[in-house]
Amino acid sequence: DAAAPGSGATDAPACFASVLVDIPTRSLTEPFAYAVPAALAERAQVGCAVLVRFGNRPALGYILAFAPALSELPGAAGLDPARVKPIRDVLTEPLFSSVSAQVALWMAREYVAAPAECLRLFLPPGGSPRLCRHDDGSYELERPAAHAVTVRWVSLTTEGASYEPPARATRQRQLMQALSAGPVTTRELNALYTDMSPAICALEKRGVVQVEERRAWRGIAEGEPRLSSARAAVPERLTDGQQSALAAIERARAVPEGAVVLIDGVTGSGKTEVYLSAIERVLASGRSACVLVPEISLTAQTVGRFRSRFGDAVAVFHSRLSAGERLDQWDMVRAGAARVVVGARSALFCPYRDLGIIIIDEEHEQSYKQGSTPRYHAREVAAEMARRHGCPLVLGSATPSAEALARCRRGSFRDMPWERVEMRERPGGAVLPRIVVADLRREFARGSRSMFSKPLYDALMGVVERREKAVLLHNRRGFAPFLMCRECGCVPTCEHCSTALTYHERTHTLECHTCGTVYRVQAYPSPASRCPQCGSPYLAKMGVGTQQVEDALIDLLPKDVAVIRMDADSTRGKDGHARLLEQFDAAECAVLLGTQMIAKGLDFPEVTLVGVVNADYALKMPDFRAGERAYDLLEQVAGRAGRGERPGQVIIQTYLPGDPVIRAVAAHDRSIFTDHDRRVRSDALYPPYVRLAHVVVSGKERAEVERHVRAIAAALEGAFAREAGGMAPEPAVAQLAVLTRPVVLGPAPCVIERAKDRYRFHLLVKCPTAYPISDAIAAALAEVGERRGLSVVVDIDPYDL
Ligand code: ADP
Ligand code: ZN
Ligand code: ZN
Repeated sequence: DAAAPGSGATDAPACFASVLVDIPTRSLTEPFAYAVPAALAERAQVGCAVLVRFGNRPALGYILAFAPALSELPGAAGLDPARVKPIRDVLTEPLFSSVSAQVALWMAREYVAAPAECLRLFLPPGGSPRLCRHDDGSYELERPAAHAVTVRWVSLTTEGASYEPPARATRQRQLMQALSAGPVTTRELNALYTDMSPAICALEKRGVVQVEERRAWRGIAEGEPRLSSARAAVPERLTDGQQSALAAIERARAVPEGAVVLIDGVTGSGKTEVYLSAIERVLASGRSACVLVPEISLTAQTVGRFRSRFGDAVAVFHSRLSAGERLDQWDMVRAGAARVVVGARSALFCPYRDLGIIIIDEEHEQSYKQGSTPRYHAREVAAEMARRHGCPLVLGSATPSAEALARCRRGSFRDMPWERVEMRERPGGAVLPRIVVADLRREFARGSRSMFSKPLYDALMGVVERREKAVLLHNRRGFAPFLMCRECGCVPTCEHCSTALTYHERTHTLECHTCGTVYRVQAYPSPASRCPQCGSPYLAKMGVGTQQVEDALIDLLPKDVAVIRMDADSTRGKDGHARLLEQFDAAECAVLLGTQMIAKGLDFPEVTLVGVVNADYALKMPDFRAGERAYDLLEQVAGRAGRGERPGQVIIQTYLPGDPVIRAVAAHDRSIFTDHDRRVRSDALYPPYVRLAHVVVSGKERAEVERHVRAIAAALEGAFAREAGGMAPEPAVAQLAVLTRPVVLGPAPCVIERAKDRYRFHLLVKCPTAYPISDAIAAALAEVGERRGLSVVVDIDPYDL
């Protein structure tokens, strides 16, 4: 088949190409060698989609690299050039660069994912491309994406400028006048004067005006509300901290193999200002910039700051863009029309022209870890990209991750320098807010049943009196109201998923958030609904929703105080988030009540009070990163207070005032928490002291799932034992001070053992940080083989266990 006749097959190859065939399977790890026929040599470039034969079928592939001789292509040494199949056709212009191709292959290996799946991240947005066959037997690439939109611009020609239309031709005179200041779109003309088309036509024929079709970029003016507090001004003087951060970035720019700078700066210390200045210099050198911000803080306010500095050169990516808008922003970057990209984690994969800096704001945010395959972490991919582009990676955070701090302490990671710069003061001398911890145990003992402790109540009344603004956080991440039996402690669970059911008060229903099953609660809270385990009538609702806090606030506050609730429900819709912020901005005296989404990025100088309704929801999550997340959340929300002239106050309500997180926040001393956290993590062998890899197997038959996960565990343990020279397995992990070789924990049923009627088992590998765990898992999976009906999910450096 290799030398089968066909288009191009009989030509002598001009060179050879490494082609990734678009088949999403993990076992297909390597690109294949194909010959480039002389007839296609000119059009074939790295990044082009091509038509090839794979097996006996036509298939879609992408060119990753070229070599003049077969022996120079990786993995192709020893192949017979005569048996290498030719590329049949070149289907597109280049879609990605050679650096992108290398990064995609790196990701596939690092995250044990299919290379084609990783490469797709770099392709134009708008759904996976498909091959489409025409009647004449030729093929074309079909993309489900919305097509490009064009706009017709009308302008005066050079000769036309002096033309005098006849006196009776009113429309033509109006058109001439409208165009005298510059080009106008046909749409605007027709909106201003009804039906301008005949006049345009007539003058176009005479050569007075010209009509040009130009590409319109959708999404560019999207969501930019006029906020009174959005400040565009460039500060006159940078603080000392800002100057040393910029100097560190300049040094990093001079390192050919890339370098990482961590800006460890309290909220409001001017990190964003540092990003803006650094980007200015990168743009001046002709390169482009990528700025990642967590989806949650990708607000109009953030985007506005970049737009006010760089104008239309800014492309924006967030999940609320339509497919067409997304494609347009992507094309803007590829065309070089936008050289600054601000976006959520996927903005990393834009077709940058000569990337000169990558910035990740709020580096510690969990949203940088992708929750579906390929399960990459944007920080790690960005570091790899910075290395290959030879540019700096700038990380910013007020609460850096334990991983980033550990790498900076060591000074390097994976042969790249890591440097930390501290920014401790706020420009203009704004003082840190005063933190009050309200002990809810004492409130309860005093007989108070209110959601608001005495200190928080008094502070809210003060805000109302002084006509200021307050922000109230009601964090509910990972927490939902549930029913609990007061007599036996039983919590109703889903019969398919074994998870606690969420209670919905309005509809009197219990709902499973894993599979969506809805259970009716009979006439709750009458005795008709009884505990499924002991039959007790005392089912009580646990957990207070944002809506209930809102109701309580409305009862408490005078009618002229605006209460604005911001949560997943109230921000639905394209600009829901921005609209609520505008309301808050416009109000004279207001309380903004919200979930964790209000903790980040808001900059309203009139906010003088920040309250945390119950900090314990964050502290008590079953995860080794719970402390880090809770500390980040409280620190961030505290940073919303006192950003203007007036001093700020923060009140944290909790049943756990002695927790190191609470003590650290209250004392403005991060080390109280980080010292404790480092000790806990090194004792219990958690990252950054070890690396973790998580493997989840699921399927319909419990026994089959269990057998498969055990086979994977055995393959891993066998490999680890062989590496250790046949030594006995390590004792229980808990007894080890330092991990010297990888260990397998489990396999065991997952916490949620059954979801959507599939059984789930998992195993966890802990290994020394430098151990090549990805390769070990890939080898074990290859050894065990795939099984129909079973799915295996690999998560390297997992977040949710
Ligand atoms: P961060 O990103 O660290 O939270 P920002 O960059 O948002 O901090 O800065 C906080 C506030 O201080 C903003 O209103 C910003 O305009 C202002 N600011 C930043 N740098 C300076 C400076 N050098 N001089 C005066 N004001 C500044
Ligand atoms: Zn009970
Ligand atoms: Zn369920």
